[in-house]
Amino acid sequence: MATDPVCKMQVDENNAAGKSQYGGKTYYFCSPGCKAKFDANPSSYVKRG
Ligand SMILES: [Zn+2]
Repeated sequence: MATDPVCKMQVDENNAAGKSQYGGKTYYFCSPGCKAKFDANPSSYVKRG
């Protein structure tokens, strides 16, 4: 399982509504809406450092 970085839901990688690559990692989303939010501003959802 992966954690949707937008809503923090647990998402099955094989069943995700969407995925995006950012900073060399792949993120999985529960819905197209979460993916759209992430793609618009990924740095606000990904902790760095
Ligand atoms: Zn979500």
